[in-house]
Amino acid sequence: MSKNAVSADLVLVLGDQLHPEPPALARTTPERAIVLMIESAAEATHAWSHKQRIGMFLAAMRHHAQALRAAGWRVDYRALSAECASLAAGLDDAIVQHRPSRVLVTEPGEWRVQQALEAACASRGVPLEWVPDPHFYCSRDDFRDWAAGRKNLVMEYFYREMRRRSGILMNGDQPAGGAWNFDKQNRGHFGRAGPGAVPERGGCAPDAITREVLDEVAARFPGHPGALESFRWPVTPAAARAALAEFVAHRLPLFGRYQDAMWQGEPWLYHAGISAALNLKLLDPREAVNAAVEAWAEGAAPLAAVEGFVRQVLGWREFIRGVYWLQMPGYAEHNHFGHDRPLPSFFWDADTDLNCLRQCFGDTLANGYAHHIQRLMVIGNFALLAGFDPQAVCDWFLGVYVDAVEWVELPNTLGMALHADGGIVGSKPYAASGAYIKRMSNYCVGCRYDPGKRSGEDACPFNALYWDFLARHRDMLAGNPRMGLAVKNLERIGAAELAGIRATAAAFLSGL
Ligand code: SF4
Repeated sequence: MSKNAVSADLVLVLGDQLHPEPPALARTTPERAIVLMIESAAEATHAWSHKQRIGMFLAAMRHHAQALRAAGWRVDYRALSAECASLAAGLDDAIVQHRPSRVLVTEPGEWRVQQALEAACASRGVPLEWVPDPHFYCSRDDFRDWAAGRKNLVMEYFYREMRRRSGILMNGDQPAGGAWNFDKQNRGHFGRAGPGAVPERGGCAPDAITREVLDEVAARFPGHPGALESFRWPVTPAAARAALAEFVAHRLPLFGRYQDAMWQGEPWLYHAGISAALNLKLLDPREAVNAAVEAWAEGAAPLAAVEGFVRQVLGWREFIRGVYWLQMPGYAEHNHFGHDRPLPSFFWDADTDLNCLRQCFGDTLANGYAHHIQRLMVIGNFALLAGFDPQAVCDWFLGVYVDAVEWVELPNTLGMALHADGGIVGSKPYAASGAYIKRMSNYCVGCRYDPGKRSGEDACPFNALYWDFLARHRDMLAGNPRMGLAVKNLERIGAAELAGIRATAAAFLSGL
């Protein structure tokens, strides 16, 4: 590529915009455009990223650039070795070099990035055109219209609207099977016998490009959390489709029943493992939803499992994205309970004697992944009960999971897990004692704490922290109709016993 050539269009493709058919390229031609892709170390350190998260983005980006070149596009690819100080600095440099008449970018997944790119173009006086992202079923504007005038944003109503609009799992205007959800069938646990033989994680063996990326990540980011050895993420659209097909064939039938279950040493269970491929746009959500619905239509998967999966993709994922763009930038600042405790070091090394946390942090560090109930009901629940600073918790979640992009991570963590938004995303805090973890997993079997106790040196810290959380925020929680029973139960505990429970919680927290 010649220095200082003039190109009409500069198309910036970000690391989470790896659509097989990039939307911004539909507005230009290979003759008019230069495609710009930037690997910025600052993006890996802005969120202190797990090595597999960095590897996932870079490997997928390099494969994407290769596919674009093969399709005839000119690609200005700025690898880590180009030492771009930031995305905005890389864009600024490319504007100076290529002198485009306009910059085209698909809507980003992060408010901060949108602001930075707008500022970079404005400072050079180059028009910036945002291209709507067709990846989603519901555009930002459509969500805004749906939300307008509503006192509360209730996911269930949004989901039903999306089912009606799309016709997915519908018989006319009625839901397939006569119900909108089958949650009662989807809360199974494995019992003492355990899960038995779980389908093996197939995954995608790293090719030469990915292996080179992983070596580079190991060399450049040695102090970042996590291990690289288990890296088997799909980093191309073809591999993402293969991962989807494997899920539908082998795990979807039991996905629903066991979606909330946990088991030591089984990090994948019946989960799809396609969230990173979806969030980097390697895989279209319509393909995922259609494949699941087809499996049901062919009798290969029960409706409860398929509806549970569709709810996650068509309902929850779209809802969360809508909330993010509706609420930013103020959303990230919410701290409903005024929590400010710093994160303990075991978030980064899993060195804790709470076995449930040791397992969930351990899975996270080994794989850059933990399934949603590990994230929500073990790690997130602990962060809520212990009163950790929500911003620190959100930064951690954004950094350690391969599928984390801010639009999806922030409302899930700040809103759903921590209830720090005061109820924008969820109508009540997902606070639970150790009893939940005991019922849904075998973690308590190998733990030094007793899940049946709530005070004393060997009492399960989740129990003491749960009652301490309710007591600390009693006035706030009493005003929430969905917390009425929990507050009533708190009031049944005698003053002396509650003092013992709270002393246990205080002793535990002081030792963090
Ligand atoms: Fe976790 Fe408590 Fe069970 Fe230990 S006893 S694994 S701390 S829930």
